[in-house]
Amino acid sequence: MRTAFLLLLSVTFCIANAQSPRFKDKYLNSITDSSLQKHVYILASDSLKGRNTATEGERKAARYIVEQFKLNGLQPYNDTTYLQNIGLWSWRWNKFTLNSKQHTFESYKDFVYLSSAPIEPLIKAACVFIGNGNDSIINNIDLEGKIAIVSVKNFRSWYRIASKTKHRGAIAILMVHQTDNNEFFKVSEKMNVLHNHPSIGTQQPTFSRSMVKAFAINQSITEELFQYPIDSLIRLTTAEQVQKLPSPELTIACQLKVEIADANNVVAYIPGKGNNNEAVVISAHYDHIGERHNGICVGADDNASGTAAVIELAKAFSPLKGKLNKDLIFLCTSGEEKGLLGAFYFADHPQEHRFDIRANVNIDMIGRIDSTHKNNYIYTIGNNHYPEFDSIVHVANNMLEPLEIQYDYNKSQGFGNFLRLSDHYAFHRNSIPVMGFFSGLHKDYHTPNDTPDKIDYQLMEQRVKLIFTTTYLAAQKTAFSSQTDE
Ligand SMILES: [Zn+2]
Repeated sequence: MRTAFLLLLSVTFCIANAQSPRFKDKYLNSITDSSLQKHVYILASDSLKGRNTATEGERKAARYIVEQFKLNGLQPYNDTTYLQNIGLWSWRWNKFTLNSKQHTFESYKDFVYLSSAPIEPLIKAACVFIGNGNDSIINNIDLEGKIAIVSVKNFRSWYRIASKTKHRGAIAILMVHQTDNNEFFKVSEKMNVLHNHPSIGTQQPTFSRSMVKAFAINQSITEELFQYPIDSLIRLTTAEQVQKLPSPELTIACQLKVEIADANNVVAYIPGKGNNNEAVVISAHYDHIGERHNGICVGADDNASGTAAVIELAKAFSPLKGKLNKDLIFLCTSGEEKGLLGAFYFADHPQEHRFDIRANVNIDMIGRIDSTHKNNYIYTIGNNHYPEFDSIVHVANNMLEPLEIQYDYNKSQGFGNFLRLSDHYAFHRNSIPVMGFFSGLHKDYHTPNDTPDKIDYQLMEQRVKLIFTTTYLAAQKTAFSSQTDE
């Protein structure tokens, strides 16, 4: 009863403050559509290449966010740095080697590695041509400790023949196309793109020794090694025929570089007036999905819009330094698209900062109008779990030019349950009250068409003002009831 009375008193007091004309002039009016637009265009520019986790494009975005936080006088979350490494592992191909005694072959021009397991240290072994790899050849030829070279009709279904040769003791397999050498260049180009993107994981990668190691090779290598034109070589179909060929020695190696990924949350704070370290986290992921075959996914709505909002909120809140009941943490996360990795890292490593987190306001895609609306709405997520937060949103909304608050993404299960699909989940999972803001899905979601020109910046400004006021009230609120039942 006492708690409820105090709560009522504190909320009434903050509302009175937040409704004063001074509040609007001083804080709300600093949030503008033009400023939001500027941030979105910068964060969603092609030069950031879709801000994929642990890429230079993402780091460029991080540098921009840091610059904006500094400009508005925000402090680094641990008073030292704005960047929190989120502890991911990254691995990428370092060097591919394929040599004969006479030749050093060139990756992507002469050969391309198709498997994911590294080959290191390097292997020296005799290579054996096994024709088209029919059973009578494979079963009647010694492959133990050898490198098998096989002619194939396509490079797609190589795994079966590779496993067979491995079963017979071959340490690697090199495949040459029987008829069309262009197929080699096609697969080589594809793999080149793939190899240029590092892999990311939460654990250091491990590779079993028994994994198949396969290469595609240019026809010219086969001709070089066996001194016959490919047309003659593919006519050899029996073990007796292929055994007459020489078996020159080859050297192979495929080295992986494994390291801690340079993927970081950008985290800053504005201190409140207390010294109890209680804080509200305002979050948005700034990573996106990078490049796809059909272009750069610049991710303007997802989630340059949310990131721009966090930057704008940092500016609007900066004059309130030392005045609110709680500290405000501004958290731009990395790795969201890979599975909320940055948010999980932040929420699960409280030892890396001094804050006692009491609430999370998360922003993920707030720039568009979906097909079921015309204007003036926002979806909120988390309302049914946190009714007190829900009422704060409504109180805030009534203080402004009101938006329609929509609940469609609060369904308890199935596709309407968005509680697990963005960073707020990392806090909800730790029983911290959350409120997510979202403008809904659209056909450009995760495509190169999610561009800055499609965002409604005026509506976005209204939404950010609602988020500002909600955060303000949450920061002024003494406590959320779920945490006051002592
Ligand atoms: Zn997103």
